Amino acid sequence: MKDNLLESQSQEQTQFLAGISADPGVYLMKDASGKVIYVGKARNLKKRLNSYFNRPEHPDPKTAVLVKKIASLETIITATENEALILESTLIKKHRPRYNVILKDDKRYPSLRLDITSPCPNLTVVRKISRDGALYFGPYTSPTAVHQTLKIINKTFKLRKCKDRTFRTRTRPCLNYQIGSCLGPCCIEISPDEYQEMVREVVLFLKGRTPDLVAKLKQDMNAAARERQYELAAEIRDKLFAIEKTLEKQIVVMPDFLDRDVIAFARSPADAIVTILFVRAGHLVGSRNFHFSETLASDAELIGSFIQQFYERATHIPDEILVSAAFDGMDVVQEWLTDLKKARVDMIRPQRGPKSHLIHMAEQNAGNELKNLIADRLNDQTLLLRLQKQLGLARLPVRIECFDNSNISGTHPVSGMVVFEQTRPKKSDYRKYGIKTVSEPDDYATMAEVLKRRYGRGDASAPLPDLLMVDGGKGQLGIAVSVLDELSLSGRFDVIGIAKKDDKKGETQDKIYKPGRLNPVNLDRDANLLLFLQRIRDEAHRFVITYHRSRRGAAAIRSVLDAIPGVGPKRKQALLKHFGSIRAIRAASLDELCQVSGMSRKTAEIIQGRLSIPLTEDE
Ligand code: SF4
Repeated sequence: MKDNLLESQSQEQTQFLAGISADPGVYLMKDASGKVIYVGKARNLKKRLNSYFNRPEHPDPKTAVLVKKIASLETIITATENEALILESTLIKKHRPRYNVILKDDKRYPSLRLDITSPCPNLTVVRKISRDGALYFGPYTSPTAVHQTLKIINKTFKLRKCKDRTFRTRTRPCLNYQIGSCLGPCCIEISPDEYQEMVREVVLFLKGRTPDLVAKLKQDMNAAARERQYELAAEIRDKLFAIEKTLEKQIVVMPDFLDRDVIAFARSPADAIVTILFVRAGHLVGSRNFHFSETLASDAELIGSFIQQFYERATHIPDEILVSAAFDGMDVVQEWLTDLKKARVDMIRPQRGPKSHLIHMAEQNAGNELKNLIADRLNDQTLLLRLQKQLGLARLPVRIECFDNSNISGTHPVSGMVVFEQTRPKKSDYRKYGIKTVSEPDDYATMAEVLKRRYGRGDASAPLPDLLMVDGGKGQLGIAVSVLDELSLSGRFDVIGIAKKDDKKGETQDKIYKPGRLNPVNLDRDANLLLFLQRIRDEAHRFVITYHRSRRGAAAIRSVLDAIPGVGPKRKQALLKHFGSIRAIRAASLDELCQVSGMSRKTAEIIQGRLSIPLTEDE
């Protein structure tokens, strides 16, 4: 490991660079504060680092910006390039350097899970992919897309539809069995081979290998007809029709029926869009776009880094990956993918022919997405300008912070702050506040406490907003103004209050209050502005209510479990980890309770006995 300050004196710099090894490895670039701002890997560390520093002018302006910010460098030598690849990925995850390409978690996107370890698996929609032996398909681009797929499968295949718990406890089949959409394995003895055959068909369908599935079903149908099993043949025919219908919607892009992903990008000075087209069995089955901002990665690094992070968590690696730009270490990544897939993966940058047409198609998609993104930004900018003008704000409200309190039934008073930047929620900056100084339901005092905590010295971690918005009318706004006065922050940013319309007074819309103004501001002429502010207020409301519920729920769980002899903090944690809620613990059988780590049968019996009292609303 080698770490050294890159002083401005070029002699020291030259000496430092001269001492770097020509082995493969990873380098960490740090800024003046010691923060890692970029992590890269190289086949030859010396050559790579010299390419950053030993040239009079950088051809790539982005790299020139990065180089100016580097104050020190650290290098870690690895035995092979493959090791460097893995270490680079670990270090990117650890430091999340500002100028690397970082693929965000896909929690927003749903996937389908098929637990093939179960004798009768069902399909469930999940947001997290785990290495638990189950098969995962997706992530899908939207909840609508995943539910459409699920609908087709549920209609076409007779997989069970119920949850595991229901499946275990049913005493007779449900309506799905009556209408012929489930074989009823909960209560009826079915042939395991028959169910597994159906699972194999579902897997083919979900993997996008519809042509293979169609061919298989045709064979099955003909065999059934030959054996005069006409009812079975008719059933397969119906399945075939349903699947062929989905196939009609997919475009054939390659006649070789291979699985391949096509990756291309488009970029502007501030943003990059990477597009993947998914080709399965020669059919274009879908696409996804990924947005990166503020990256200083070159085109080649963008593609290389993206591929590494995308396939590390992908549910399927295709036989071939087409890329629009070659990158350093492409052969190593190809080897790594082959290891991961346990079958050969080819990575190609096509120059001509049908494969280069696919790249062109992906580039066009990325370009369109980028254009839409820029157009949206322009719209956002005009909306903020209009808001500034209509409300007479001193600053453009680029960063808006909105507070709301919740103390339903007077217990566990809490407050929450949501942040919108450039008209979009910035969830990483949201804050929750458990109220410390107010025990009675008192909205004003609660507001005063959280504003002091946020804008006093207590929370200097976030930048000041351009606009502070409080949920409430003149009273809450007055509190906000006086707290800001007290903190000597008056005039540093604008403040408004948003109050619900009073139907009893015949008011038709919510009211926006400004300090020093008796009547609300009339936003009638630009309804979108009021809608935008309402959206922020509603998000604050949702956020704080969710937090309040979780506090009440946690307190309820604590109190119920705390009262049980033999359940200490460790056991309580194990129970909650295993079951997730008091409701689930109550529903568990004795055997299920015994499966919790560290649980004795005797304690399980006590827990079951104590929890046999009726549920409270919070549970
Ligand atoms: S019939 Fe049985 S296995 Fe099928 S969905 Fe209903 S409960 Fe589940």
